[in-house]
Amino acid sequence: KVRNLTGLWDKPPFDAEISDKVGEWKPGCVTSIDGREMAVEDPSTEEKIATITLGGDADADAAVAAAKAAFPDWATTEPEARVAALERLMDIYKSRAQEMAQAISHEMGVPIALAKTAQVGAGAGHLKNTIRTAKGFAFERRLGDHAPNDMILYEPVGVCALITPWNWPMNQVMLKVAPALAAGCTMVLKPAEQAPLSAMLLAEMIDEAGFPPGVFNLVNGDGAGVGSALTAHPDADMVSFTGSTRAGVAISKSAADTVKRVSLELGGKGANIIFADADADADADADADADADEKAATRGVRHCFNNSGQSCNAPTRMLIERSIYEQAVETARSVAEKTEVGPANVEGRQIGPVVSKTQFNKIQFLIKRGFDERARWVAGGLGLPEGLEQGYFVRPTVFADVTPDMTLWKEEVFGPVLVMTPFDTEEEAIALANDTPYGLTNYVQTNYVQTADKARARRVARQLRSGMVEMNGKFSGAGSPFGGMKQSGNGREGGVWGLEEFLEVKAVTCWE
Ligand code: NAD
Repeated sequence: KVRNLTGLWDKPPFDAEISDKVGEWKPGCVTSIDGREMAVEDPSTEEKIATITLGGDADADAAVAAAKAAFPDWATTEPEARVAALERLMDIYKSRAQEMAQAISHEMGVPIALAKTAQVGAGAGHLKNTIRTAKGFAFERRLGDHAPNDMILYEPVGVCALITPWNWPMNQVMLKVAPALAAGCTMVLKPAEQAPLSAMLLAEMIDEAGFPPGVFNLVNGDGAGVGSALTAHPDADMVSFTGSTRAGVAISKSAADTVKRVSLELGGKGANIIFADADADADADADADADADEKAATRGVRHCFNNSGQSCNAPTRMLIERSIYEQAVETARSVAEKTEVGPANVEGRQIGPVVSKTQFNKIQFLIKRGFDERARWVAGGLGLPEGLEQGYFVRPTVFADVTPDMTLWKEEVFGPVLVMTPFDTEEEAIALANDTPYGLTNYVQTNYVQTADKARARRVARQLRSGMVEMNGKFSGAGSPFGGMKQSGNGREGGVWGLEEFLEVKAVTCWE
């Protein structure tokens, strides 16, 4: 069932066929009652590729009502039946992976190879992991010896509003939808308005997998419209949000009046601490995820630029021990200059455009601040990369000697922009990594440590204030908890932690 997406996208992708039974999915089912429209652009070409309808309060009401009506039955379905439905979804997702990759590549400009492997693969990984986790999860369990007649029931939270960003669309959507379904929740998904096509495709697949009407609902729209209507809605029991810290703060406030559970996955400004001995055992440390011959600095630059720098866990501040600092700056220059930037559908491109003109302009502004504040220019800069005349392409950019008072140190750029800073001691490296000092930018979601000295790596990891620490280029698996500390968020997705986000804990006494 592979369709030619190019053909599909040059008209509204899923022709509006409005269901008269709210909650029943049909392609394009949730056409806005308000009737506003928005063009979806391909950031590689700046061409309109689809039109979506933008929902409003009435659409949010209708979708929440459908989810509320479906909740009692779905919540009491046997966990095994929910898992079986997820397994059917897994089969469909796999068989339509090519279509999904095309959708993601067109809507947010990620190179097709990366869309196929990392982007679509991440969605599959989270779905698979949720299935495995749910199969092994005891939804009813005894408390133990000190209260032998108490039973603990894990029950679904209720109707969930799931709000996601555009940068890893299927990764972020699946991290919410799969565990919410496994938990027995019903839901309204509002995907990012810039990249809604992959989510709409997933909605088709969920329908095809045979989930009951109303369990899953999708409403397109923007944050100010559907987004805030959902977060304030009295019948939504939970908001699970991934996106900017700015929106996370607004959502928390909006949800407060109805005392919803709010789970936030927000921005980051990760540090990548590279000690002088980092490459000493590069070979010994190599595994499938880390190239044996890739040195720490090279790997760090590539990781920062991956997905055009649009990752909340990107290692954007490279901290390097002074004795290897200049060498690392040279490496960064060379990697940046060799990074191939170009249209997402051309095989071999390492990075595509950033998602939108708004993001492009924001990144240009921040690069200009780097020059204005006199950071040492190393590579890249303002304007389009050589040879490109359209599309939202950003030059892979590196600044060195960046200090904590500079904008580029503090602000999340969300583009292919790396800053580099030397350090002399372990203590200084930790202090710098933890120093993202002002206002809303006090966030670090993931930090990175590169050293051959395992004892030091563990010592440093313990002192870093972040939800995740990755050592020596190894990525954490799909079963690991993903999330941030401080203003990077308060939730954890993935594995058993991600499932528990969608569960209430009920204590029942005198069970026997
Ligand atoms: P954004 O916060 O502007 O938008 C994210 C989503 O929230 C979109 O669907 C948007 O429509 C919606 N939204 C915006 N304002 C809202 C409001 N007031 N009420 C309800 N919904 C609202 O972020 P973005 O620009 O789309 O994404 C980039 C940001 O997301 C970056 O800061 C990045 O670090 C962060 N992010 C975090 C993670 C994570 O797991 N921690 C993952 C990906 C992205």
